[in-house]
Amino acid sequence: MTKHQVVVIGGGTGGIMIAAQLLKKDPTINLAIIEPSEKHHYQPAYSLVGAGAYSLVDTIQDEVKYIPKDAVWIKEYAQEIIPSDNKVVLASNEEIEYEYLVVAPGLVDNLSLVEGLEEALKKDNVCSNYIDSEKTWKAVQAFEGGNALFTQPTTPLKCPGAPQKAMYMSSDYWINRKKIGDKTNSIFATNGSIIFGIKEFRPALENALKEYDITQYYFHNLVKIDSENQLVYYEVSKTDGAIVNDKNNRAKREVVSDAPPTVTISYDFLHLAPPQQAPDVVRNSPLVYTEGPNKDWMNVDKHSMQSPLFFNVFGIGDCIAIPTARTGAAIRKQVPVVVDNILSLMKKGEIGNMSYTGYSSCPLVLGYGKMLLAEFKYDGIRDSDPLLNTFVDTTKAGWLMWMLKKTGLPYLYWNMMLKGRM
Ligand SMILES: Cc1cc2nc3c(=O)[nH]c(=O)nc-3n(C[C@H](O)[C@H](O)[C@H](O)COP(=O)(O)OP(=O)(O)OC[C@H]3O[C@@H](n4cnc5c(N)ncnc54)[C@H](O)[C@@H]3O)c2cc1C
Repeated sequence: MTKHQVVVIGGGTGGIMIAAQLLKKDPTINLAIIEPSEKHHYQPAYSLVGAGAYSLVDTIQDEVKYIPKDAVWIKEYAQEIIPSDNKVVLASNEEIEYEYLVVAPGLVDNLSLVEGLEEALKKDNVCSNYIDSEKTWKAVQAFEGGNALFTQPTTPLKCPGAPQKAMYMSSDYWINRKKIGDKTNSIFATNGSIIFGIKEFRPALENALKEYDITQYYFHNLVKIDSENQLVYYEVSKTDGAIVNDKNNRAKREVVSDAPPTVTISYDFLHLAPPQQAPDVVRNSPLVYTEGPNKDWMNVDKHSMQSPLFFNVFGIGDCIAIPTARTGAAIRKQVPVVVDNILSLMKKGEIGNMSYTGYSSCPLVLGYGKMLLAEFKYDGIRDSDPLLNTFVDTTKAGWLMWMLKKTGLPYLYWNMMLKGRM
């Protein structure tokens, strides 16, 4: 059995940042990253690829360039975590022992959670920026009018704003570039109750919904897709406030059953987020919630990122259940806390004093050349960067913020965040 002081599962956004920052603080740490993929993906740009505003090849780099030079790269899947024995079992059955473990394998799509989804995705007019953003761009360009439905499942999502971003970008394209606005009905159907949880950013989103004349359906829980008849089935959990701007039912929403209340919405173009869950290596481990709304997601203290059951195990990123949005931006603020806690445990036997406050952010692209930056923390409180806000009002969509998304943030990601410099 091989032993390392620190083992990191996953070499994505969170795993590489943890490794880079820990080794920058102490290059003598014996650290291993378990990551099977040769490629590293910059996922935040998928929303731009789906609108033809960014190239997919530019979102992919060789993983080897970002594994810190002092780290050991174990190019395999972690299959099982046995925290009572401080070990991880690889897909090859080899066992890796650790003193400290950081769990960061992200999340996975589970298409089987929505009936008909797998079949539907084989059609040219059904797409997802989460799965194949180049296909989205092809489908957007091919659309000639009718119902364009943007929707999402009831599971938690990474970057939960991404389904809306696809809608604003596509609507802008159809109305202002392809000039087919008069024959286009853009529709947003979600299980959520409002367009965005943080009130300061809602007015700009409401303006965009108005500008693109978007029909909205809230409390609509996606259950099934019938791609032969181009219908999506929803159970409606609440009727008050469920329908906004439907203009005499232009979306052809039909009630098909009363118990449970079920409706169909017809589509000519469909963009959706796939249902998402923690990877099996996490779900099958003793590190998860065993019941309740967070069942099968990793359980960590929301301020220290430490497992409540195993003092030497930490979780970051998309695989954990904490009450904030799963984003790379959130990880950027989680990492220093975990680094501080591990170094403090090594030196003093107890975790440090840093606390993660739930910071996350959502760069909402509202059209070509238009972006606002929603930054927030636990309890839905706005948490905008004070320095940035001296130059721009980040609650309003603007060109400077768009350039930040297109060029600034990718540069910071590859050159600063993954290198342990921020
Ligand atoms: C369409 C879209 C738009 C987005 N927009 C934004 C945005 O604008 N801003 C933002 O901040 N975030 C955005 N995100 C979210 C952001 O990309 C993720 O939150 C972030 O990458 C999660 O990092 P992670 O380390 O948890 O997982 P990932 O970066 O996904 O990395 C997980 C890694 O673990 C590896 N792995 C998986 N299973 C195992 C295993 N069993 N053993 C070993 N390794 C394993 C994988 O190969 C992968 O490399 C977006 C995501 C999408 C899909």
